Amino acid sequence: MLTIAISKGRIYEEALPLLEQTGITPTDDPKKSRKLILDTNREDVKLVIIRATDVPTFVEYGAADLGIAGKDVLLEHGAECLYEPLDLGISKCRLMTAMPRDVMAMPRRVRVATKYVKIARNYFASQGGQAEIIKLYGSMELAPLVGLADCIVDLVDTGNTLKANGLEPR
Ligand code: AMP
Repeated sequence: MLTIAISKGRIYEEALPLLEQTGITPTDDPKKSRKLILDTNREDVKLVIIRATDVPTFVEYGAADLGIAGKDVLLEHGAECLYEPLDLGISKCRLMTAMPRDVMAMPRRVRVATKYVKIARNYFASQGGQAEIIKLYGSMELAPLVGLADCIVDLVDTGNTLKANGLEPR
């Protein structure tokens, strides 16, 4: 039995055609079903539907044989014990720092809102800067607008969310 860990949403949608190309078709749709273990057309393959951030943990502990997860998740988890055999090239985006457009320079001691605490800490340390990291679970773009942080570290795809909130990449 091969167990594949995957999260619902963007990654699932984009990985599905690739799985189908390899002859694996889930028999349930996670958007319609509340099942957390999905059978497939192959008796020896099943999918476990979990939160993206839990994918490395399931693989690390052997609860899944392999997982499909974003590089952001792997970096933040610190997946030294996992092999990354293949970049599927799906859900492409960039992990960026962003600040309000009207702020000229990054302060010397910067306050950063992000859900990527580890990645942000490593990044600012590598720049020789001092950063206070504030962990958030979502809507990072709001933090500079309400004075919670000077900047954010978040995923950017089209850049529309940054733009709509008066932020720009730095
Ligand atoms: P966008 O407005 O297209 O730049 O998308 C930015 C928003 O989508 C941010 O809230 C990100 O956290 C989220 N996002 C962008 N790309 C991804 C991705 N590949 N996976 C998950 N979330 C993403």
